Amino acid sequence: MDHAVEEWEQRTNALLRAVFGLEALRPAQRPVVQRVLGGGNALVVMPTGGGKSLCYQAPAILRPGVGLVVSPLISLMQDQVAALRQYGVRAAFLNSSLSPREQRQAEADLRAGRLDLLYVAPERLLTGSFLDLIAGVPLALIAIDEAHCISQWGHDFRPEYSQLGEVRRRFPDAPCIATTATADAPTRRDIAQQLQLAPEDIYVSGFNRPNIRYEVAVKSNVKQQLLRFIEGEHRGHAGIVYCLSRKRTEEVGAWLAEQGVRTAIYHAGMPSAARRQTLERFRQEEGLVVVATVAFGMGIDKPNVRFVAHVDAPRSPEAYYQETGRAGRDGLPATAWMAYGVADVVAMRRMIEESVSEGDHKWIERHKLNAITGYCETAECRRAVLLKYFGERLDAPCGNCDNCLNPVETWNGTVAAQKVLSCVVRTGQRFGATHIVDVLRGNPSERVHQRRHHQLPTFGVGKDLSETEWRSVIRQLVASDVLRVDLHAYGALQCRPEAAPILKGEQTVLLRRDPRPPSRKKRRASAAAGAPTAAEAALFERLRARRLELAREQGMPPYIILLDSTLLAMAQRRPRTPAELAEIPGFGKVKLERYGAAFLEVLSEQG
Ligand code: ADP
Ligand code: ZN
Repeated sequence: MDHAVEEWEQRTNALLRAVFGLEALRPAQRPVVQRVLGGGNALVVMPTGGGKSLCYQAPAILRPGVGLVVSPLISLMQDQVAALRQYGVRAAFLNSSLSPREQRQAEADLRAGRLDLLYVAPERLLTGSFLDLIAGVPLALIAIDEAHCISQWGHDFRPEYSQLGEVRRRFPDAPCIATTATADAPTRRDIAQQLQLAPEDIYVSGFNRPNIRYEVAVKSNVKQQLLRFIEGEHRGHAGIVYCLSRKRTEEVGAWLAEQGVRTAIYHAGMPSAARRQTLERFRQEEGLVVVATVAFGMGIDKPNVRFVAHVDAPRSPEAYYQETGRAGRDGLPATAWMAYGVADVVAMRRMIEESVSEGDHKWIERHKLNAITGYCETAECRRAVLLKYFGERLDAPCGNCDNCLNPVETWNGTVAAQKVLSCVVRTGQRFGATHIVDVLRGNPSERVHQRRHHQLPTFGVGKDLSETEWRSVIRQLVASDVLRVDLHAYGALQCRPEAAPILKGEQTVLLRRDPRPPSRKKRRASAAAGAPTAAEAALFERLRARRLELAREQGMPPYIILLDSTLLAMAQRRPRTPAELAEIPGFGKVKLERYGAAFLEVLSEQG
């Protein structure tokens, strides 16, 4: 036996193996579980998929008494409790969706000490009836999920969460563990203060999501590009496509459906029944693509979302990180794909300039927009750029973003930039990109002749680059705010002060060459590492079909029966006996009893 493993950790690992079918705690979970098991408090800031739930579930099961879990959304509570019960854990929830009979059952179980975990909505905690109910029941801990909701500094403040400070005062002896995926330093301090946690109770683990691949495409025909992306990399997978407006959501959704992609849409303008239906389908079905505005967000806990696509650029790196973070919670490969074009930057700049917000706030929004365009235009590792924005450093390029996989060429675009800028100046800063490109390429269009622009010295000085290449130069100059698009003058390009040093030759301009979409062959090669073979993929599909049957029988989302990562491990290792099946991550004792035979049957069929 390994003597370095302390007693608390042996007990925890035994629980993980027997109940959850997991090998051991992850490094970031270890200190948290140790502290809470010992009766201490913790504020856990951990990225999505990092394993926050286990940080309170394991101590709640191991410590005497019931663990109270405060959670903001009824749908999340139901899923978590259903998932725990599948593992044989004694869990229940109390919220408005219960029938009186179910409610009485949960209360009886609680009083009799038959519960390890009880999920409760925040507004219920301080009601007289709940306080009566809980009086005399020993508490293993109080866990607060989505803890950023307590803070005005966070991005999702919920008034009902402000009672939680009082809850802490009422139960000073129960260890408190608060968890969140998104809290910057001021928000963390605020959460800690309101919950009376000490600075040394705060545990922050890195933001990196190594299983998410980041890709950015330059917009040309965005619907076609989206379809190629889905068909090429994620055919038959569940995904979310984010659009900026309701109208576009409907348009893109309808188009994808016509192309044979199984699609549903979601936006805040839909009747609530229709929205609920999309949400329910997304949970229950396999491989559904939801086209949505960012209203489709909170409450999506589906672990096997394989891609998140943005057909319109997001507003800020924070929003982008949160939206793309919904992909790949289960740790399997997932993709964050974005199509980006100059029109996005223009539209967003307009929103900022026309917004009523005060000077300082505008400045912050401009800063965030610049960060997004910087991310889109970078020739370096995209993950490094994103993490740097959040104050984290990546030691080496990640090897799992488009720039790492297909390195981008950069070129000295100083002369090209000068040609564009002087052409803009000489035409009086009154024309848009199309006309500027016509003049540069010496294209004798009607407008060129009307305005006598064929007589300008810049006419035809740009025959060395194609029209697409000139558009790329202009786009990058707009993205870096050297050129501005005037929306009150039909999209006329205008020089900003930043243009002067370039025109004078005092500043070099480095541009990225837009990559061609990688060929299919290359894509396949780059996806090869660790990816399943054709036979394994076929077996995975058969296991998935069996899981769907089992899920349907119980009226549950498939991922609550077993995770995709468990199915994949089965397909790759092909266990033949219950003992071999027990070695597959995700099969605890109870799941083995319930589903072992069903899956062994599929595994023994000739494929
Ligand atoms: P979060 O709440 O932080 O988004 P979850 O608690 O849902 O993350 O866990 C994410 C995934 O990681 C789940 O599929 C879970 O089974 C898995 N997981 C959690 N802890 C471990 C562990 N110690 N070993 C292996 N897998 C784990
Ligand atoms: Zn990279």
